[in-house]
Amino acid sequence: MMNEGSSTWPQWLPLRDELRSRTPYGAPQVDADARLNTNENPHPLPEEVSRSISESISSQLASLNRYPDRDALALREALASYVNEFIASAGGVRPANIWAANGSNEVLQTILLTFDGLVAGFSPSYSMHPLLAMGAGKRFETITLGEGFSLDMNSAVTAIDSRKPSIFFLTTPNNPTGKSMTLAEIRKIVDAVARNGGMTIVDEAYGEFSTVASAVDLLEETPSLIIVRTMSKAFAFAGARIGYAIAREEVISALQLVRLPYHLSSLTQLSGIAALSHAEKLLQGVEQIKSERELLSRELIALGFEVVKSDANFILFGGFTKVSAIAGWSSDQLWRELLDRGVLIRDVGISGYLRVTIGLPDENRRFIRTLREIISK
Ligand SMILES: *Cc1c(COP(=O)(O)O)cnc(C)c1O
Repeated sequence: MMNEGSSTWPQWLPLRDELRSRTPYGAPQVDADARLNTNENPHPLPEEVSRSISESISSQLASLNRYPDRDALALREALASYVNEFIASAGGVRPANIWAANGSNEVLQTILLTFDGLVAGFSPSYSMHPLLAMGAGKRFETITLGEGFSLDMNSAVTAIDSRKPSIFFLTTPNNPTGKSMTLAEIRKIVDAVARNGGMTIVDEAYGEFSTVASAVDLLEETPSLIIVRTMSKAFAFAGARIGYAIAREEVISALQLVRLPYHLSSLTQLSGIAALSHAEKLLQGVEQIKSERELLSRELIALGFEVVKSDANFILFGGFTKVSAIAGWSSDQLWRELLDRGVLIRDVGISGYLRVTIGLPDENRRFIRTLREIISK
C-alpha cells in the first residue's frame, strides 16, 4: 500500500521534485517490551484527569453537529493561566498572546507558512524543523554545533549576519542532545536574527524538564520571538495533540492569516481545557522523570558510556569505542541488539550515539540490564 520508494512513484503523479526521494517522517512504531524511543511521558493519565476529560466531552457530544470555536478562546485562556502560573516569571501573558494547534508541529508549520525567506537553525537539532521547512517550500541552512554539541556564540552570530534567515529555529533543551541554552544566549541569537529582519522560534517542547527559565521572559523586551511549547511531553498528553505558540499579539494575529478554519476539533479543545485544570497533578510525573534521568545517567557512565548532560526527558549517550565489547560498533548495530532483546530506543542519525527516552523505573532498569548483557557477552 505505502509507496515509499523514490524511483517507484508513477509517472502520472505530478509530485513536487523535492518530494520524490522522500519517505514519510516517523520513528518506527514497532512492538517492544520497553518503548523508549519517542520522548513520550511514560505515566498514564491520572484517573481524576481522564474522568474530567470524559465528563467534559460527554456533556458536549450532542453539539458535534456544530463547528468548533475557531479561535479556541477557552483553551487559550486556560493555556495563558498555565503559562502565567508555571512558566512566565512576571506573568502578563494574555489569551491574545497564545495560539493553539494540533501539536506543536502544526504551530511550527503555520509559522513557516506565514513568513517569507530563508530558514536556519542549529544542527544537530529537531529533525522536523528542516522537514517542515521543506514541506513549506523553503530552504533550510544549518549552523553546526561545536565540540560536545556546544554553542559557539561568535560563529553563530557571524553565520546569522551573513545568511540573514527570516526564520531561525532554536531548540532548548535541544533534541536530541538534551542541552539547554541560557536566556542570555537566547537573547544574543534573537538580537542577531532581529537586526537582520528575522523571527526567532524558540522550541521549548521539553521546557518543563529544564532547570533554565523560559524564553517567555524575553517577550517583553523583544518582539521578534515566538516560543513554541507542547502538552505532548511533560503533560503526558501526546495522543491529544495540543501545542501552542506564545508571542506578541501582532505575531499571533499574523499566524491567523494561514491557519485552517476550525483546525482544532471541539474534542481536542475540551480535552485540553480539562487537562489544564489539573496542571499541577499532571506535572507531578515530571519530577520523577528528572530524578530517573539523573539515575540513568550515572548508570550509563558506570557502564563506561559517555553521557551528554541532559535537561530533558531523554539522554543522548555515546562513547561506544570506550566499551571494549562493542568498540567498533555502529549506532545501528547497538540499536538492533537492544531491540532484539525487547528494548526500543532511538538512532537519531548521529554516528556513535543513541538516544534513550526516560521511561518508568522498571523500563529504565530493563534498559540498563539489557545493555549490561550486551556489553558483557
Ligand atoms: C516532540 C517535539 C515536538 C513536537 O511535539 P508535538 O507537540 O507532539 O507536535 C516539537 N519540538 C521538539 C523539539 C520535539 O522534540
